[in-house]
Amino acid sequence: SKKIVIVGGVAGGASVAARARRLDEQAQITMYEKGPDVGFSNCSLPYYLSRTVRQAQQLVMMTPAQFKAQYNIEAVVNHEVVQINAANQTVQVKNCQTGDLTTDHYDELFLAPGTVANRPQAIDGVQGEQVFTLRNVTDVVALDDYLHDHQATHVAVIGGGFIGIETAENLTHAGYRVTLIEQRSQVLSTLDDDLVQIVHKQLHDHHVNVLVNQQVTGISKSAVTLASGETIPATAVVMAVGGTPDVRLAQLAGIQLGQTGGIQVNQHYQTNLPHVYAVGDAIESQDALTHQAKRLGLAWPAQMEARRAVDHVYGRPIRNRGFYGAQCLPVFELNVASVGYTEAMGRQQGWSVQSALVIPTDKVGLMPGAHPIYLKVVFDAVTGALYGAQAVGKGDVDKQIDIIATVMQQHGTVEDLGDLELCYQPMFSTTKNAVNFAGLVATNLLNGEYRQVPVTTVRDLVSKNADIIDVREPGEYARGHITTARNIPMSQFRRRLAEISHDHPVYLHCATAKRSYNVTRALGNLGYTNVYNVAGSFNALCEY
Ligand code: FAD
Repeated sequence: SKKIVIVGGVAGGASVAARARRLDEQAQITMYEKGPDVGFSNCSLPYYLSRTVRQAQQLVMMTPAQFKAQYNIEAVVNHEVVQINAANQTVQVKNCQTGDLTTDHYDELFLAPGTVANRPQAIDGVQGEQVFTLRNVTDVVALDDYLHDHQATHVAVIGGGFIGIETAENLTHAGYRVTLIEQRSQVLSTLDDDLVQIVHKQLHDHHVNVLVNQQVTGISKSAVTLASGETIPATAVVMAVGGTPDVRLAQLAGIQLGQTGGIQVNQHYQTNLPHVYAVGDAIESQDALTHQAKRLGLAWPAQMEARRAVDHVYGRPIRNRGFYGAQCLPVFELNVASVGYTEAMGRQQGWSVQSALVIPTDKVGLMPGAHPIYLKVVFDAVTGALYGAQAVGKGDVDKQIDIIATVMQQHGTVEDLGDLELCYQPMFSTTKNAVNFAGLVATNLLNGEYRQVPVTTVRDLVSKNADIIDVREPGEYARGHITTARNIPMSQFRRRLAEISHDHPVYLHCATAKRSYNVTRALGNLGYTNVYNVAGSFNALCEY
């Protein structure tokens, strides 16, 4: 029977073990994990801080005893694989509690060591006992215990990616005053600067002190110091600034790394050493759109790579198509989802990028629980090919992004989004689903049927005293409007055409860009050639 040895016992490693057992009842499967737990949910770790997950032990979904009883898999915890001897197909394993070394033989070896959480050495005091990272159950329990033992009131979270935000939210729910510090100009690089402002506002509204464009230079027992000289009170600090592939073992064995520093694998997840595969966060994967090397830190790719790698061992044909990076997270009352490239990333690539931002409701407006969904689709300005999409809203934004991710994986275009036949009932959706709207608006942009400017340009337009027309009704205008905008309501514009210039550019907006879109189209049909719709309009602007 085949002897399978696995390094790492979480998303990638446990998936390798389970798949191997499903394909081969005779295989001897041993999974080594250097930590005290296997089969835990990393993605749920922050939820222990708020006791959404009541007990830390609930985070562990499969114990070694369960692996043995249910799958006949040896899950060996507190054991680190410290050396690979490829020539005679053995690994050396260290018992982390006793230091004892043993040797184990493999027919096939799978590496799924994940990443090491970054602790930038440039930050003074980064190794302090009050500085935590979040990778496993031990980490989150240590953080939680420290906060209780030190009667903490203030916590700083460094890094505005999804782990930083989830940690900040759960610490806030637990009653701490949280400062979230991000060195770039925004949190969540998966969103463009227009949509991310909604997330910034949501965090502020829930009393998270969000600091962007701020670099942390030092950490002391009671505060974090910023490059600006400002100090932020913090009894504990969570570093959520990403991870580096854990390639120590691989490097020692002569396994090649890719250009991103992850373990290099071929299309079958094989390393350069015979009978040694690698999967998960530690490997270099491919961007499905560009076919460029990239690194991903997501659970779906980790477990799917694991399945495919095992399939290859058992002679099943597999294809590594690369990844689009579909992902989602809650941010207090909001949900955020994205796939592929943002508009900013597309421009960085030098692509001719266009985007459509629509704000329909996620179900018929009359229905309880109907909320606006901010949906932005990024596409090629010439071909309409999809580059990516982002959605923010209180409802099921992951549904819209999942639909778009599916179309992207079929190499679809914005026209395909407009054409999609999707379920409709008032409690679930609108007759034209948000995805349809985005696709149709994008198609009209593609065809040059109308023009738009992004909501992020409005400040500039105001400062240049551009002609902005608010087509909302007078009551809405009275309740609040862009300072320099004049009001020509949609219900009146046909009899007030004389007030609309044919000569200079005119920028139209309403609450969500839907009415202004219709007026833009009507004016176009009436021979106006210099009219622009403000994508996102007033609602996006309020969030902005
Ligand atoms: P890991 O799951 O990190 O497992 C690697 C394991 O290998 C570790 O336990 C390590 O101790 C062990 N190991 C390393 N070297 C050795 C050795 N030499 N010997 C023995 N054992 C070793 N992804 C999502 O898609 N959605 C989410 O919502 C999400 N939320 C997350 C929240 C948090 C707080 C974190 C930390 C991650 C989150 N992720 C999420 C990312 C996701 O958890 C990872 O992509 C996934 O776990 C990667 O799987 P992996 O097997 O490659 O690595």
